[in-house]
Amino acid sequence: GKIILGDQILERSDVNIDLEDRGYQFGDGVYEVIRVYGGELFTIKEHIERLFQSAKKIKLDVSMSSEQIRGLTEELVKENGVDFGSVYMQVTRGAAPRAHMFPKPESSTKAVFTAYTNEVPRPASLLEKGVEAITTEDIRWLRCDIKSLNLLPNVLAKQEAADSDCFEAILHRNGIVTEGSSSNAYIVKNGEVITHPANNLILNGITRQVLAELCKENGIPFIEKEFELIDLQNADEVFITSTVSEVMPVIKVNGETVANGKPGNITCKLQGLFEARINQDTKV
Ligand code: PMP
Repeated sequence: GKIILGDQILERSDVNIDLEDRGYQFGDGVYEVIRVYGGELFTIKEHIERLFQSAKKIKLDVSMSSEQIRGLTEELVKENGVDFGSVYMQVTRGAAPRAHMFPKPESSTKAVFTAYTNEVPRPASLLEKGVEAITTEDIRWLRCDIKSLNLLPNVLAKQEAADSDCFEAILHRNGIVTEGSSSNAYIVKNGEVITHPANNLILNGITRQVLAELCKENGIPFIEKEFELIDLQNADEVFITSTVSEVMPVIKVNGETVANGKPGNITCKLQGLFEARINQDTKV
């Protein structure tokens, strides 16, 4: 298939990435994953905005405009004939002789933007049945608001979940639940949706932001406050959200069923509202 490198759409097999690309050596870059529904990009504006915010937070000049990135991405999805799938895009600080400090401006090292597409079906049966999760310590840095390429703690946490045949690892700092290894995490208690505040300890998910809007529009309290592992155990409902997983019920945590072990009422209601939003925005 085709990919984007800089401002060009090229055949993937024609592309070479430098061994000394700083993304490769230092994880010195940022990324986004965007959903494609029926050939249309969902919340693309928000994702590209967040890409620029992440880049700014690491003092990285993307050296492309958001309009240019959007245009190229739409073209790529069309050229690759993606129906239901995703776009992965990243920007690194470019290729330069290996040294930790940023390349000098005189070296004319330029950010490297790449993007490619995948076909990924919606996880219909998991959305209906729910998934299992473990909890594990959040060992990440203190800027989890940046969607950085450095994902080693997330990788280790997800593998720990996979080793227990679980879908996700829900992370905590000293007993306070932050988010999932690749998702935001929520509990429902007494009709209220509760999730960690969008500060430096979590990524403010685009799906989370859509969910907050949907809650507001439909009179469901959306409370941003800290909650603990014990609250996860005692929750009426638990769910996670992400671009790829949408609104995913969690029916077991550390082998213990959440409430009656079935996706909860509010979770299912939010799934319906999210589905309606997809249909509205992408004409699926
Ligand atoms: N938190 C983390 C750590 C993630 O990796 C992701 C998925 N990219 C999310 C939250 C969810 O974000 P979004 O809804 O924008 O996919």
